[in-house]
Amino acid sequence: MKFTFLGTASCEGVPALFCNCPRCAAARALGGKNVRTRAQALIDDDILIDLPPDTLYHFHTHGVEGHKLKHLLLTHSHSDHLIPKELHNRGPGRCHDMDVDILHVWCSQGSYDAIKAIAPREDHVKLHLIKPFEPFTVGKYRITPLPANHHKGDEAVIYLIEGEKTMLYALDSGYFYDEVFDYLAEHHVKLDFAVYDCSLIERVWPHIIGHMGLHRIRLVVEKLRELGVATDRTIHSISHFSHNGQALQSDIEELVKDDGYLVAYDGRVIEL
Ligand SMILES: [Zn+2]
Ligand SMILES: [Zn+2]
Ligand SMILES: [Zn+2]
Repeated sequence: MKFTFLGTASCEGVPALFCNCPRCAAARALGGKNVRTRAQALIDDDILIDLPPDTLYHFHTHGVEGHKLKHLLLTHSHSDHLIPKELHNRGPGRCHDMDVDILHVWCSQGSYDAIKAIAPREDHVKLHLIKPFEPFTVGKYRITPLPANHHKGDEAVIYLIEGEKTMLYALDSGYFYDEVFDYLAEHHVKLDFAVYDCSLIERVWPHIIGHMGLHRIRLVVEKLRELGVATDRTIHSISHFSHNGQALQSDIEELVKDDGYLVAYDGRVIEL
């Protein structure tokens, strides 16, 4: 499995769209890994996770060939993860000589409704409504959506992705629900790789919904280890950074040097 972080920021990006705070100014001046776009990921070269406003830029910058994509997994409908109208670009007159006839879009209720509202051409894009804890197959992978502790009305999900390797993609989630921990333990999942939401970095919100920072990520990792879901071999990575917390690559790496977490940056590739 080849996993690519295409974007590693929360909704307004780093430097943020209209911001001139010291963190954005520093990111702007330093460039490189400190410049972060809205969260998106690619598995191998044909499974895309989320469709944020920076999708076209990601394809241009990281050599993603959109015509090879077979599947799009959506986490939820927030605008930093889904711009439904981009799907209009996968239709007659807007793309030609396609390797793949149909792009399969896997989405829970909120994303499904948002896409239906823009009336996509469904001859080239096929929507699949997914439900938490109901696995489906995408190529050589078994995908299980699990409920994200994020935006309840949206039915936001995180994804357990199992093939030769097993990974958890868990952006836009607060502390995991008990039933998520239970599912992973009861199904004897052993993670090779996990991606956690680190929007808050060092900040600690009193409530556990929405997003996580290092404080709650450490609690999640500890619990996964207790359950045997995470082992000594598991790579724990953090992403979805915000300028409201530390967002410079070197500063975040310093914060987690004792945890051993892998700090995502745009374009970072993990070969599992
Ligand atoms: Zn987000
Ligand atoms: Zn800022
Ligand atoms: Zn969100």
